[in-house]
Amino acid sequence: MRAWPPSVKRGAPAPTAFLDRDGTLNRDSSAYITSPEQLKLYASAATALKLIALKGYRVVVLTNQSAVARGYMTMAAARAINLKLVKDLRHAGASVDAVYFCPHGPGDGCLCRKPGTGLIKEALKDTPADMARSFMAGDKNSDLAMARGAGIKGYLVLTGQWRSAGPRAAAKGYRDLLALARAIPDTRGKK
Ligand SMILES: [Mg+2]
Ligand SMILES: [Zn+2]
Repeated sequence: MRAWPPSVKRGAPAPTAFLDRDGTLNRDSSAYITSPEQLKLYASAATALKLIALKGYRVVVLTNQSAVARGYMTMAAARAINLKLVKDLRHAGASVDAVYFCPHGPGDGCLCRKPGTGLIKEALKDTPADMARSFMAGDKNSDLAMARGAGIKGYLVLTGQWRSAGPRAAAKGYRDLLALARAIPDTRGKK
């Protein structure tokens, strides 16, 4: 489900950074984020997004928000939290091109809950991506599994709930999104 922007313009396929939200851009605790005030950006998140954009990527956030299905928040609250994300990042000089969320629960059998690929398909329907130069980054195995399912590169960030990704996670992950932003290729001026 698209939370941002209100409407989309189809452009040419661009390299796209598909990013998880909780534990990747903002702090994630064991409690669900169910109101805008609970959303706290990581200190380096905006710097990371600026660098990713400088390297020629669109920034698209894909997030599971099962707190809606669980009855902990309304769809309106889920939208408001995602808009706060966009606003806080903008305030810090960074921009997000789009945000999509899955409001369903694990037992709902939807196609959009990560590791399902429904959210990325929805994003691509709105705006095509240059998939060979796109990637997904997140703090959980489900983010990496979604990347595999969509046929794009997947990167683990060692923030949020990365420890749930298993004992070998530390070896294959990036310290945070900023470390990853520094490592990804610059796509500008290349075909
Ligand atoms: Mg996460
Ligand atoms: Zn869903």
